[in-house]
Amino acid sequence: DAGVVIAGGGQAGFQVAASLRQLGFAGPVTIIAAEDRLPYQRPPLSKTYIKTDAGFDSLLIRPDSFYAKNDITVRTGERVVSIDRQGSTVTLDSGEQLAYGHLVLATGAANRTLPVAGATLPGVHGLRTAADAEALRAAIDAANRLVIVGGGFIGLEVAAAVRSLGKDVVLIEAADRLMGRTVSRPVSAFFLDQHRGMGTEIRLETALAAVLGDDRAEGVLLADGTTIAADIVLIAAGVVPEDRLARDAGLATDNGIVVDTFMTTSDPRIFAIGDCAVFESPFTDRPVRLESVQNAVDQAKTVAARVIGPGEPYRSVPWFWSDQGPFKLQVVGLTAGSDHVELGRLGEEGRLIAYCFRGDRLLGIETVNRPGEHMLGRRILGQDLTIARAEVARHDFDLKAHVA
Ligand code: FAD
Repeated sequence: DAGVVIAGGGQAGFQVAASLRQLGFAGPVTIIAAEDRLPYQRPPLSKTYIKTDAGFDSLLIRPDSFYAKNDITVRTGERVVSIDRQGSTVTLDSGEQLAYGHLVLATGAANRTLPVAGATLPGVHGLRTAADAEALRAAIDAANRLVIVGGGFIGLEVAAAVRSLGKDVVLIEAADRLMGRTVSRPVSAFFLDQHRGMGTEIRLETALAAVLGDDRAEGVLLADGTTIAADIVLIAAGVVPEDRLARDAGLATDNGIVVDTFMTTSDPRIFAIGDCAVFESPFTDRPVRLESVQNAVDQAKTVAARVIGPGEPYRSVPWFWSDQGPFKLQVVGLTAGSDHVELGRLGEEGRLIAYCFRGDRLLGIETVNRPGEHMLGRRILGQDLTIARAEVARHDFDLKAHVA
């Protein structure tokens, strides 16, 4: 048996290998990991790793010994460059060919680059990998002022972390609100206030025109002609899926690698999971590509089960979190398409719960510093226990009592 070859040693790639062994798969399992590192967690990169001197080992999903113990081969610093579907082999950047019984594409995503002058100057950073985070933290140490381009999760997490070090932070966002792709307006507004309260200067509806500087970044030029001085510029403007391998091999792609509910691509022996995969989710009415640990882990488990047996379609409830300073945002469901938001009773300052509906359908729940309610929300969406809009709107609505 040629076993399972996994392209990509991130969250999803790791989990397929681990789950295959957990389920008793006995054939060879090989992870080809382009980064020169064992699989590690990315979430801490933008939250704690950039502001502490934590060692890389603190990020590892499992220690070195796990792979030997479980007979999982991890080839770090190597890359899959092409797939021969007829021959059932992949070619690595060294030229070596590797046979597969099943191939799993877990290649993740890459930072979007912006087509503006100066974008490649020294002092311009992105944040996707541990190496990026290490470069950024060294630069932050020596800097006083950071400009962040992009008001999504990563830009905002970095803003909060760097503000806590007492450095100046200016964040520019092209849209009229923060995290506009993923959270409802009230939650965007809440975080705008909180970040301003933390001392970050936030400019909405502001586009980057160029990075200024001769041999290194010295600031940015905005589309309205104004300039902002900076020692570091962080571009946090979203990602593009790593789907080139699949496209070159003639597999269906559409802003990601297209898969069915078993995470199978248009070739039944090739799967795609995690940030690189586009799939039909029961939680939304159009194909989605999700960028979250939950999605990477649960899709990996779906694939492992499918390799060893009939498996089950992927229908896990989507959830994710983002830590921004003292605020833990947690979202369950896919709330982007909501047209009505009902705010729960606020209780204490600094906490929030937003029920997001489309028509009468509850799409999801967004909470800030309310982990208990987030967990209840996962139960509600997972068990199809919906809540009526009118009920939530009632002054005395109590989520705990509703679920009990
Ligand atoms: P990745 O983890 O990106 O792994 C893909 C790997 O494949 C990479 O190492 C890449 O180098 C490698 N690769 C690519 N092409 C090849 C090739 N041809 N051959 C071999 N290897 C290849 N999610 C949350 O839920 N909560 C959070 O708080 C959160 N915070 C985040 C903070 C940061 C800074 C980042 C970058 C992400 C964060 N995420 C968070 C998202 C989460 O980390 C990703 O959704 C998750 O890592 C996706 O896993 P993946 O395996 O699909 O991709």
